Amino acid sequence: MNKKILTLLSLLVLASCQDNTLFFEESFIIDNINLIDPIEGLIPNQTVVIKGNKIIEIYNSKEINLSQKNNIYSGDEKYLIPGLWDAHIHFAFEKDLASSMPNLFLYYGITSLRDTGGPIEFVDQFKQNALKNPKTKSRVKIAGPLLDGKYNVYDGSDITHPVLSIKNIDESQLKKNIEDLVDLKVDFLKAYEMLSPKQFKVLMDLSKKHNLKVTGHVPLSMDVISVSNLGLNSIEHFRNIELSMTNLDQELLKERLSLLKNKSSLSGAKLRSKLHDKQRMRSIYNLDSSKIKEVVSTLSKNNTWQIPTLKLYKNFAYKNYKNQEYLRSLDILPETSKIAWKKRINKISLDQSKQMKDYTDWSKNMVKFMHENDIKFMAGTDTPIGFLVPGLSLHQEIQELNEAGLNTLEALQTATINPSIYFNLQDSLGRIKNNYVADLIILAKNPLEDIRNTKSILAVIKDGNYLDRNYLDSIVR
Ligand SMILES: [Zn+2]
Repeated sequence: MNKKILTLLSLLVLASCQDNTLFFEESFIIDNINLIDPIEGLIPNQTVVIKGNKIIEIYNSKEINLSQKNNIYSGDEKYLIPGLWDAHIHFAFEKDLASSMPNLFLYYGITSLRDTGGPIEFVDQFKQNALKNPKTKSRVKIAGPLLDGKYNVYDGSDITHPVLSIKNIDESQLKKNIEDLVDLKVDFLKAYEMLSPKQFKVLMDLSKKHNLKVTGHVPLSMDVISVSNLGLNSIEHFRNIELSMTNLDQELLKERLSLLKNKSSLSGAKLRSKLHDKQRMRSIYNLDSSKIKEVVSTLSKNNTWQIPTLKLYKNFAYKNYKNQEYLRSLDILPETSKIAWKKRINKISLDQSKQMKDYTDWSKNMVKFMHENDIKFMAGTDTPIGFLVPGLSLHQEIQELNEAGLNTLEALQTATINPSIYFNLQDSLGRIKNNYVADLIILAKNPLEDIRNTKSILAVIKDGNYLDRNYLDSIVR
């Protein structure tokens, strides 16, 4: 509806009320708030009317007169942003923690999640639970298991490699597994590192047939330009893209193909580590600017999005989790996980590896360069991997993206409208507009002035349901 008609209609409503005030039955009204839409930016003095699970009207607060019979929340001096997405989580990584994760996400205003790999029957429980309880559970999009190749990395062999992936001996087994996942209604698919080029092609063909997005790590048997040209929709952690950003790229690929024959019969996890150890830093120390430009322009042209997981890398390289403030942030975890994490952290030495720091710094610079080349990002964390606290870590990731070169509004987009676009929900989710789902966060401070203010959460609105500070505190106690 255009603005003139809208104003006219409002006037009619006004005129129809005896006392010239507006009344909305069974509604929740946030009055006179600073609205931050991720596309339009800050719009001060807005009155947002929520009914059921939707935003039904937005007014300029100065132009209306609300009846005191309404259910009104005063937004004076406060800020309203859309509920946030964490676009990279793993419910299945620490099964003891999994059942506490939904409340932690909600507590931190993360109202939508993209689970990037775990056994289908396990992650689907979280998706179904959210579908049944949209007013108190964050929506969950799932990939099911990582689709790996003949050698399987996340096969459950140890604590650092729980079961997240499935092995696919050949193309026909992969085809069957994908068809099964499609029948179980997964929301996207995830390609993993041990896929062969032929398997990767099968995966891309099937995903197009079923209209599903594919995210992944660049398979070690391929180069990033080929996978992008074949239509991979997004890449997690920049994984293996550096191998194609050096003049050594052809030589490195040849070496990988030979090592992937796996003559010494290593496990999937060991084989992958061996390849990373041999090639990652060799690439980083031999980067070539024309190769970088070629890769980045290909990703940009093909609209291959990136989920850089900067905080994850930073945590590993700089051992942020050893500092006091970080350790205090673990207090929000359930007791058993908190104790287990602190124990593990204690065992890790303070020594920092120069190589890991160089890699982390490179990834941050790469975000800036890609951003300048119009590549889109989603904020994703990989929680609970890397001692990343579910929920809190998403705020930390947005901060990293901001520090890497996105302005505060662009950083907010990576956790609101961008993931909505990714799942084709951009007309109903991720903005503050009429007819959008009322997944919202009320903040005490302006995140456009300082992105860390996304943590100043006063209340969360999930599917139109107002959850105040007391409620949020109660669910993590
Ligand atoms: Zn992951």
